[in-house]
Amino acid sequence: CFCELKGTIDDCSCNVDTVDFYNNVKIYPRLKSLLTNNYFRFYKTNLHNECPFWKDVEFQCAMKFCHVKPCKEQDIPLGLKGEEPHLKYIKETQTIDCSEDLNKELGFLNKSISEKVHKELKRWSEHDDAQDNFCILDDHHEGAEYVDLLLNPERFTGYQGKSAHRIWETIYLENCFKLQDSKSRSSFTSLIDSHSLRDVCLEERVFYRMVSGLHTSINIHLCANYLQPEKNSLEFASPNGVWGPNLKEFKRRFSPETTEGQGDHWLRNLYFAYIVELRAIAKVAQLLRNEEYYTGFDNEDKEVQLAVNDLLNVIESFPSHFDESIMFSGDSSKMKFEFREKFLNISRIMDCVGCDKCRLWGKLQTQGMGTALKILFSGKFEYDVDRSGFYVINGTKKQQFKLQRTEIVSLFNAFGRLSNSIHSLELFRNQLR
Ligand code: FAD
Repeated sequence: CFCELKGTIDDCSCNVDTVDFYNNVKIYPRLKSLLTNNYFRFYKTNLHNECPFWKDVEFQCAMKFCHVKPCKEQDIPLGLKGEEPHLKYIKETQTIDCSEDLNKELGFLNKSISEKVHKELKRWSEHDDAQDNFCILDDHHEGAEYVDLLLNPERFTGYQGKSAHRIWETIYLENCFKLQDSKSRSSFTSLIDSHSLRDVCLEERVFYRMVSGLHTSINIHLCANYLQPEKNSLEFASPNGVWGPNLKEFKRRFSPETTEGQGDHWLRNLYFAYIVELRAIAKVAQLLRNEEYYTGFDNEDKEVQLAVNDLLNVIESFPSHFDESIMFSGDSSKMKFEFREKFLNISRIMDCVGCDKCRLWGKLQTQGMGTALKILFSGKFEYDVDRSGFYVINGTKKQQFKLQRTEIVSLFNAFGRLSNSIHSLELFRNQLR
C-alpha cells in the first residue's frame, strides 16, 4: 500500500513506526478525551476579519455543513468569560487593600486607578509578548467570539477550486522561501516536489515541511470525514448528514499515480509536523503542568490538570525528539526574522479562506503551529522551570514567559488534529491491505 510508510522521517532521526505506535496507542486516545473538556473545546477567535491581501474573497461554501454554528452564551463556562485566575487574584488582593483604607471614596479611587494601571501594564506586556509571536492572535480583538469546536468538527465542506487553490498557492509561492524563484512555471503544484527541496537549507525545508504537513492533515480529515457519496445532496434527509471515510478520495489525493509520486512525501511531512509540535509541548511541559486550566468549575479543572499531566508524561517519554538546537545556528538572525515573518503571513492568509469552517480550523491550526514555533525559536523557553514557574539564571530567579490561554488551546488542538490524521491514516491503511 502506498500509505505504508517505512524508515525514518526526513530531517529528524525519528522512525515512522515509532510515531505510529506512540501516537495510535498512547497519545491519540488521551488527547481525544482531553480535548472534549470545556477548557479546550471553547476557542475564541474572530472569523469576520477582512482578508488583508485581496478584496474579492470568493465564498465557496458549497454546502450548509460548512457554516460555523454559533456558541450559545449560556454554554460558555463563566470562567472563560473574562475571569482569568490571575485577575481574580489581583481583584481579591485589591479588595483587602481597599478595606484597610478608612476613606471609602479614596479607596474606590485607588482601586480604579490601580485597575487602570494594571490594564495598561497588561496591554504593554501583551504588546511585548507579541514581538515573539509567530502567528496573529485575535481573541482580544473586537468581534472575537467563542466557538464550540465539538459542535463544528473539521470535515469535508466542498471548499475547492480557484478560491482554495489561491490560498495554498499564496502560502507556497509567496511564503515558502525558495519556491518563490520558480513563480514563472505554469502551475505551482509542479514545483512543490521533494527534488527541489534537496538544494535548500534546513530552516527552509523545515518551514515547507510544516506547511505541507498541515496541508496533508487538513486533506486527510476531509477524506476521513466525508459526506457519504451516495447521499451527497444539499437536500439530504438527515439534517446533520452522514459522515465517514472515503477511500477513493484518499487514494486520489495521495497515491503515487495521481500525485506524480509526491503523495508519500506529503504524508511524511505530516509526521514531521507532528514531531515538531510534540517537541514544543515537551519543551514547555513543566509550564503546562503549572497551568490552572481555569474554567470556574473546580472539579473539572482539577481533572484536566491530571489528564494533561498524564499526557505530558507520555509525550516526554517519546524516544527521539526533534532537535531544534540545530536550527538557526551561527549568525542567522535575518533567517529567523524571515522565518517568523513568513509564518505570520500564513496566519494572516487564513482570513482570506472563503469557507467559514475551513477558516476556523485553518486559523486554529496555524495558531497552534505558530505557538509551537514560538516555543522552539523565540528563545523565551530555554530554561527548565520549577513548580512555581520560576527558573534561575546567573543566581537570579526569573519568572518563565507565560503562554496565553488561546495559545495553549490552539497548541493542544492543533497537535490533536495531527494526531487524529496519523490515526486516520492507520484506518485507511487497514482498508487498503
Ligand atoms: P489541494 O489540496 O487544493 O492542493 C492543491 C495542490 O497542492 C495539489 O494539486 C497538489 O499538487 C499540492 N498539494 C496537495 N497536498 C499537498 C501537500 N500536503 N503538500 C504539498 N503540496 C500539496 N476542505 C474541506 O473539505 N474541509 C476543510 O476543513 C478544509 N479546510 C481547508 C483549510 C484551508 C486553510 C484551505 C486553504 C483549504 C481547506 N480545504 C478544506 C480545501 C482543501 O484543502 C482542498 O484545497 C480542496 O479539497 C481541493 O483539493 P485539490 O485536490 O484541488 O488539491
